[in-house]
Amino acid sequence: MASNEDIFKKVVSHAKEFGFVFPSSEIYDGLSATYDYAQNGVELKNNIKKYWWTAMVQMNENIVGLDAAIFMHPKTWKASGHVDAFNDPLIDNKDSKKRYRADVLVEDHIAKIEGKINKDITKAKKRFGDAFKEEEFRNTNPNVLRRVGEIEKIEAQLKAVQVNEDLEGFKSLIEELGIVCSVSGSKNWTEVRQFNLMFGTEMGSVAGDASTIYLRPETAQGIFVNYLNVQKTGRMKIPFGIAQIGKAFRNEIVARQFIFRMREFEQMEMQFFVKPGTQKKWYEHWKEARIKWHKALNLGSDNYRFHDHLKMAHYADAATDIEFNFPIGFKELEGVHSRTDFDLSKHEEFSGKKLRYFDNEDNESYVPYVVETSIGLDRMFLAVLSSSFNEEKLEDGSERVVLNIPPALAPTKAAVLPLVKKDGLPEKAREVMKTLQYDHICAYEEKDSIGKRYRRQDAIGTPYCITVDHQTLDDNTVTIRERDTMSQERVAIDQLPRIIGEKVSMKNLFIEPVVSV
Ligand code: ATP
Repeated sequence: MASNEDIFKKVVSHAKEFGFVFPSSEIYDGLSATYDYAQNGVELKNNIKKYWWTAMVQMNENIVGLDAAIFMHPKTWKASGHVDAFNDPLIDNKDSKKRYRADVLVEDHIAKIEGKINKDITKAKKRFGDAFKEEEFRNTNPNVLRRVGEIEKIEAQLKAVQVNEDLEGFKSLIEELGIVCSVSGSKNWTEVRQFNLMFGTEMGSVAGDASTIYLRPETAQGIFVNYLNVQKTGRMKIPFGIAQIGKAFRNEIVARQFIFRMREFEQMEMQFFVKPGTQKKWYEHWKEARIKWHKALNLGSDNYRFHDHLKMAHYADAATDIEFNFPIGFKELEGVHSRTDFDLSKHEEFSGKKLRYFDNEDNESYVPYVVETSIGLDRMFLAVLSSSFNEEKLEDGSERVVLNIPPALAPTKAAVLPLVKKDGLPEKAREVMKTLQYDHICAYEEKDSIGKRYRRQDAIGTPYCITVDHQTLDDNTVTIRERDTMSQERVAIDQLPRIIGEKVSMKNLFIEPVVSV
């Protein structure tokens, strides 16, 4: 079986070969950790956005959308705390000159210990077979218990140095754990320093007059500064939400792992404004709603877990990550944060404008509390792509690479294929295309054998191939081949728009998820 690292490499090269993701400005050898979404990638990305927008805005009467500018008044970032506190701890290895995020070094060390626990469990599972009880093993096996204790101790130490911003303590922890650089293998570390992640630039054409502005490091602040505008013009009553999809920029210390961590990326964020004191309830509500949204895609319910933050951001009173099992391990995909009234209060303070809400029912005015859901669109794209990627051995001994992307998210919904390039079949196939094209992205292909064309569509995740053959000319029927099962069904052409429409409808994702086996 291929290792996770191999799978990751395959996914990255598949994404390039089949027009999903290209390195940015590749003719100039690319720009580190910057990527462009290609012809299939942009469709998948748009469909993910649509799924999110439908779930958050369209399906909720009390959530509306927004598209705020990337540039914002510089005071925004002073108020939000980003100028002073949006830092990551940085450490260099003196021998390799390789740069790391100090917290990630410790987290990777913890992940290694978790890996050992999982190895012990796999071994025991093999030894005991059906009689194996994982939970009991976890609770009693001395090795597992020792390692869990070790992890808990390290997590407590990590939390302490993070909360106290104890940079010396951070370095001592890395030394104490014996963490080595993966390139030089040495423990020759520099001091730990704080590094601000915001990109600054200048506005205006006269350099001397220019004032520094920042590329937004999160979309949320565009929502906060517009909260009262939206509340008033939309006559919104608390609780209500504002949703936004847009670019964010962070000068990440180490940007790598393909589109998982980039310096320019896209976020889908929703800020939900609630009455103070009710935030806990709404925090739980959104945790549940968001995990349900993920699981409805049927990418494997075991591939998700919650991970509560060890160190809360300066604005939060509760925070958790929804982690996904990427080929690079369980990593953050989405955050659900209870942000209190921190942001709105700070904007009141810095702008001198009142940002209060008058509650007619309770006859009182207050600064609302906020529960936020924040998901990285690029990470979501990677989650879909990597979990859909499959190499299959078929019954006839041949192999195929298939992307089992949920049909509602697939870039191309249907490919229309004349069996041969003559006898009037191409013309008929074009007619079929026309009945579908208004509603869906479709492909038309007549080159190469039908088998080869099926494989090409499998490789980009097209869920349905419609084949026009000689019988079509006689009775106006075509075959629909289903990507995952490869089964074929003959249907009348006039039924096609309905059948394809139903199969690829986003509605299917809102029906209770089918539990994957
Ligand atoms: P991390 O701990 O991985 O740096 P974060 O906790 O700083 O992430 P948030 O500030 O909570 O991330 O941002 C919300 C979401 O935006 C994340 O869950 C992630 O999906 C996405 N995101 C954050 N940074 C990046 C990045 N550099 N590249 C791609 N997506 C990102």
